[in-house]
Amino acid sequence: MATFHDLDLPKALQKAIDELGFTNPTPIQERAMPVILSGRDMMGIAQTGTGKTFAYLLPILKQWKFANVHVPRVVIVVPTRELVVQVVEEVEKLTAYMSVRTLGVYGGVNINTQKTKVYEGVDILVGTPGRMMDLALDNVVRFDEVKKLVIDEFDEILNLGFRFQITSILSMMKTKRQNILFSATMTDDVDDMLNDFFDFPEEVSLAASGT
Ligand code: ADP
Ligand code: MG
Repeated sequence: MATFHDLDLPKALQKAIDELGFTNPTPIQERAMPVILSGRDMMGIAQTGTGKTFAYLLPILKQWKFANVHVPRVVIVVPTRELVVQVVEEVEKLTAYMSVRTLGVYGGVNINTQKTKVYEGVDILVGTPGRMMDLALDNVVRFDEVKKLVIDEFDEILNLGFRFQITSILSMMKTKRQNILFSATMTDDVDDMLNDFFDFPEEVSLAASGT
């Protein structure tokens, strides 16, 4: 069984993982790593609880390089405010020894407070579809430097009726970038979106019953 040490992670990232007490990558983490590192678009499908958040965070952070840029280079869209908070926490734990500015944005809180934080500079922006769209339409969030777009819980995002917001966000992203999509299930809605907006992402799928 592979350990995190086999993944040849930068020291700062490995130290953070050691402090979390994690020793072995989960199957989705192991399988997503080379695909995401290759730069190809990816659609990852695995049940809840299989470790999908680290499956995209680890390769993104493994490749992390300092850049003198103040607008987000990584955008992560998740369905709910609770998930924004959770993903931000996980990024912060993993980047404890790195210089990465992470910000979570979601509805239900004053948008001006969030605008101020965006203007202060952000490297990894995590948000709900609605608030992400609103901040981008207001030209507060700028997508000019986005190299990676992650849509996590894509099935849930579409189940909650956020197709319009996702489409709108995608239409505002003009840069060449890597798209990384994750879902617990492959639904017709997810499949439709893949066909309409993405160019044959490589599918990494874990059998529900385990192998
Ligand atoms: P999913 O998104 O697939 O539902 P999460 O990414 O939320 O799963 O991870 C589920 C739980 O497993 C979290 O508490 C997370 O911290 C933990 N976890 C993730 N990767 C590992 C690992 N390699 N070893 C041990 N625990 C892990
Ligand atoms: Mg998840």
